[in-house]
Amino acid sequence: MTLKQVQGDINLIMHFELIKKYAYAVKIVFTILIAFIVLDVLFPLPGKKEFSKEIHAKDGTLLSAYLTTDDKWRLRTELEEVSPELIKAVLEKEDSWFYWHPGINPVSIVRAIYRNVTNGEIQVGASTITMQVARMLEPKKRTYLNKLAEIFRAVQLEIKYSKKEILGMYLSLLPFGGNIEGVKSASYIYFNRPPDKLSLAQSIMLAVIPNDPNTLRLDRSNKEIIKNRNYWINKFKQQRIFPSADLNDALDEPVEKKRYAVPLLAPHFSYYLKDNLKGDILNTTLDLSIQQTAENILLQNIKRVFYKGITNGAVLVIDNKNSSVVAYCGSADFYDEGSFGQVNGITAIRSPGSTLKAALYAYAFDDGNLTPQMKFADIPTDFHGYQPENYDLKFYGNVSAEFALVNSLNIPAVRLLVQVGLNNFINFLEGCGFNQIQKQKSKLGLSLILGGCGTNLQELTQIFTAFAREGKMYPLHFVQDEEEQKGEQIFSVSSSYLIANILSGTSRSDIADLSNYSTLPKFAWKTGTSYGKRDAWAIGFNPNYTIGVWMGNFNGVGSPNLSGAEVAVPLLFDLFNTIDYNSDVKWFEVPEKLITREVCSESGLISTLYCNSVIHDFAIKDKSHNEVCNIHKPVYVNLDETVQYCTACLPSSDYKKSVYTVYEPELSVWLLQNKYNDQRPPAHNPDCTAKFAEDGPKILSPSEDYEYFLEKDSEQEILLMAASDSRVKTHYWYVNEKFVKKSKPGEKVFFIPNEKVLKITCLDDKGRDGRVKVSVKYY
Ligand SMILES: [Zn+2]
Ligand SMILES: [Zn+2]
Repeated sequence: MTLKQVQGDINLIMHFELIKKYAYAVKIVFTILIAFIVLDVLFPLPGKKEFSKEIHAKDGTLLSAYLTTDDKWRLRTELEEVSPELIKAVLEKEDSWFYWHPGINPVSIVRAIYRNVTNGEIQVGASTITMQVARMLEPKKRTYLNKLAEIFRAVQLEIKYSKKEILGMYLSLLPFGGNIEGVKSASYIYFNRPPDKLSLAQSIMLAVIPNDPNTLRLDRSNKEIIKNRNYWINKFKQQRIFPSADLNDALDEPVEKKRYAVPLLAPHFSYYLKDNLKGDILNTTLDLSIQQTAENILLQNIKRVFYKGITNGAVLVIDNKNSSVVAYCGSADFYDEGSFGQVNGITAIRSPGSTLKAALYAYAFDDGNLTPQMKFADIPTDFHGYQPENYDLKFYGNVSAEFALVNSLNIPAVRLLVQVGLNNFINFLEGCGFNQIQKQKSKLGLSLILGGCGTNLQELTQIFTAFAREGKMYPLHFVQDEEEQKGEQIFSVSSSYLIANILSGTSRSDIADLSNYSTLPKFAWKTGTSYGKRDAWAIGFNPNYTIGVWMGNFNGVGSPNLSGAEVAVPLLFDLFNTIDYNSDVKWFEVPEKLITREVCSESGLISTLYCNSVIHDFAIKDKSHNEVCNIHKPVYVNLDETVQYCTACLPSSDYKKSVYTVYEPELSVWLLQNKYNDQRPPAHNPDCTAKFAEDGPKILSPSEDYEYFLEKDSEQEILLMAASDSRVKTHYWYVNEKFVKKSKPGEKVFFIPNEKVLKITCLDDKGRDGRVKVSVKYY
């Protein structure tokens, strides 16, 4: 054996010894680790505590907070929301090694054990912040066993959460007496301010109270609190934790003996979100300054109309950049029980009056069958028994779509609804999120477009945002950082532009007194007044905002003085004038697909060489119809224009060709009756024997399949009226094949029915006829 070998053996033996030693330590560590893993699986950390729901404005202001299900004010606290002084005071006071230990502080445990052994009592001092969190999550009696459990929990917490999260939990769960938990709750209830706006004295107080929360109640034992506060202030002074001058000021700070209510700002908005959105902290899009402006303006406007018997209103303001809700006033005064202030006027189902007309016209522009200058007959019309009237009970004759929309005429709107198809339009509205309309679907009729359906301010305002956003409707945003959802193209860009263009004109009957609004930004708006004068609406938009306004009474009582134009429009004007005051709003640009073309001024259709005046109209490329004017026609007449000829009876001389306006018979009759300057052609040659290819008389009353409900033996009469073209002189009326009366075209005649089914025939002097069948029920 060489020396080298011996040396090697010794090395080997020593190596073994070392391994043996290590193995022992490794075994211990390993056992502890296994034990921990097993315990961790058997006793997982309890779930986080439920926090109070908080609603915050866009600028972070707490709008409202709500009790948890166990009736606690437990507002979740993030470190960023708390004044650094408060965090510093808490750490210094409770656990200055917090950021350095693994949940337990061995030094203080050893110290505590020593003290417990020497004094024979259980001391508190050994708890780290992490251990205190463990105890607050699972409150237990103070025994040695529970202390061990707490240590185990503390390690679990440290493994699962960051230091920041643990400190956040601690600050959120600290008890402050009664049902107040966490520094944020305490900060609002004791000092009426968020925890980042606390003074040094207040911060130190909030660090002190949890030591004995049931005794140290700010509204009861202020003396005790001041004593405790000052004890710590002096201690911090010795330790030089805070600047000495600040601590001296803190010593002098008086303490109010008061508790504040948790905030409840924008109450309808807050409750709406509380009930409809998940999550404990909701950072909303509400702009507090716009909200408060809107609240004030709404209240002022209610005062203005209160004497008219109108007690409430609602306002919804949407930012058109991203369809976010910036102001939401569900009623004029949430706390006014007399006017049912707690009813939310933004979600309440009401009749929309005429507001949906804007959507109908936009829909029809896209449909291709309508252009702004196209003409409609605004004359008494019977739509299968439905005979709408205009708001002012007048009729305007031959009017353009633009005029009809601006002045909210009812008959053209119903006519348009018939044209686009009631069901098509209902399906369209359903797709735009009109829930009540979807529910009522099967029961809705043509009156839908005049308000015969249920909607709410939110749905109506939302559909108007599409006009401001190139025809796309986006879901309304209530919460920040939500992913921008995809908008739905409900109107074309061109059609949206047309509506904006038409409804922003100044020549309208529903305009408020403009002298008060010299700085008003440009915007478009539509009004509405529901049946029975129960609801006044005005919904406006420009590139910046869409604002919806409702006024009325929550008890459903109407007011003879209520109208969208007189009551709601001034409110809408006030809102735009304040919220969008002096804004450099750049109006919508004319879309590429929108072209202008020349149309006949009297028909609104593409002009022919017979049309005597032309105007410009918009048309949507590849979409709008290309119909040519059908009312200006050349007609053969005698030289003094008193007799009309057809090719069959045209004489060989003494005739000429003149252009006349030939309206449809109904309109022609109405124009004549209302003494309009009618350029109809003269009567047809009485000696003409030619057969007429055109239709016979058109019966205007009664309408086909109409059901009359008449009182028995009351001798109530039924109106008979028919229109014919200009060649017809006489109508002959028959009921169930029996001759009744003779009349002129357009003349009103009456007869008393005595049968249940009436087949009514109108024969003209050219031998053509028109027929309708109606039924009569007697009661
Ligand atoms: Zn024409
Ligand atoms: Zn003829």
